[in-house]
Amino acid sequence: MEFKFDPADEAFRQEVRAFVEANLKPDIKARMERGFYPTRTEMAWWMGVLADKGWGAPNWPVEYGGSGWSPLRRMIFEEECVEADAPPRKMGNLVNIGPILYTYGSEEQKRLYLNRTLRGDIIWCQGFSEPNAGSDLASLRTRAVRDGDHYIVNGQKLWTSGAHESDMMYALVRTDNSVKAQLGITFLLLDMKTSGITVRPIIAINQSHMVNEVFFDNVRVPVENRVGEEGTGWTIAGSLLASERAFSAEIPHTAHDLKRLKRIATRELRRGKPLIDDPLFRAKIVRLEVSLRALEFSMMRVLSAGPAESQQAVASVLKMRGSDLRQRVAELMVEALGDYAMAYYPDPFMPPSDDPDPPGPDHASGIANAFLFRRAFTIVGGSNEVQRNIIAKSILKL
Ligand SMILES: Cc1cc2nc3c(=O)[nH]c(=O)nc-3n(C[C@H](O)[C@H](O)[C@H](O)COP(=O)(O)OP(=O)(O)OC[C@H]3O[C@@H](n4cnc5c(N)ncnc54)[C@H](O)[C@@H]3O)c2cc1C
Repeated sequence: MEFKFDPADEAFRQEVRAFVEANLKPDIKARMERGFYPTRTEMAWWMGVLADKGWGAPNWPVEYGGSGWSPLRRMIFEEECVEADAPPRKMGNLVNIGPILYTYGSEEQKRLYLNRTLRGDIIWCQGFSEPNAGSDLASLRTRAVRDGDHYIVNGQKLWTSGAHESDMMYALVRTDNSVKAQLGITFLLLDMKTSGITVRPIIAINQSHMVNEVFFDNVRVPVENRVGEEGTGWTIAGSLLASERAFSAEIPHTAHDLKRLKRIATRELRRGKPLIDDPLFRAKIVRLEVSLRALEFSMMRVLSAGPAESQQAVASVLKMRGSDLRQRVAELMVEALGDYAMAYYPDPFMPPSDDPDPPGPDHASGIANAFLFRRAFTIVGGSNEVQRNIIAKSILKL
């Protein structure tokens, strides 16, 4: 069987490629190629460039700024952006909170936030997990008590990615202790500059500062910042997490890494020959490539079917397989690099002015760092063990 793109889709790919090439700043591209992350300013700038072109949020409905593309074109767009080493867009904005706001938000919330969220003018963080409430999210204890036209929020969130450079947080809070745990949860939007919010860094295994602890001490949140009714936060969070999981498969990223892996294996020698000529190593690459292909087709099926409730468990499959492949490709890159995999810079978030020049060939840059940080990929968005439970219950009916 041969899979081919329609000529119109192929023309679309060329259009995206040309646009990205013409607009992406070479210094940002160069940093991305070496495995660094963009600064907040760089990321917001790129989101703005895409938004001006009408490509800011391909997954949103057209009326809110979406591009109206088919699932295939959305995939092509992602592939071209990743392939060109464009900065990642803030997926928490585009995949998590955006769809929640246009689905469950009030007209005022849509007016206030949607466009700025799409353009990266507001950066959001996710305040769900807490100490003792990660996999068992329903046991969260951050409390919001109504006081006139405000909620007073007290408690703590944990592992909050990007809280230190976010403008807003969407959070799950407990508004009722007297009902079943899931029914007492409410979805709130918090301005991170509100008095009483303290953000403390957690330094990850690769020395980067991405995750944080966030403390709330009598934080006053206007009632109009509630999304949906009181007690509906659990349902809203469910659709958000399914969307996050489906997108966390990051297939274009793994495809990009596979190409890089092949380049490394072509340059690195074992017993005087390019590693890529070693049949055992080739077999490892091929196994990964086949798994990725299978995942790609599953992803297309999910995207075509739309965000139905029944798709939530399928999103768990994508998340589980996608995160596993991202880790496996990083492991193979480290294996291919041999001793050069030890060459390691401390923090992919460091500002461009501090960029180090680690020893070893250029093709080794950033690999060790990615390998270490990707340990988290099978945990974030709900651990893979928990995804297996969801699949067992919802798909296999066990
Ligand atoms: C890098 C990183 C970024 C993150 N960013 C965010 C963020 O921005 N916002 C946010 O809200 N959260 C974030 N998280 C939190 C993440 O969602 C949680 O870490 C995750 O849900 C697991 O929860 P936990 O850490 O409390 O582990 P626990 O729930 O304590 O789990 C510990 C271990 O037990 C296993 N386990 C637990 N329950 C079961 C079960 N029922 N069956 C089988 N095994 C089980 C888990 O798989 C895991 O291996 C982030 C985490 C990381 C590592």
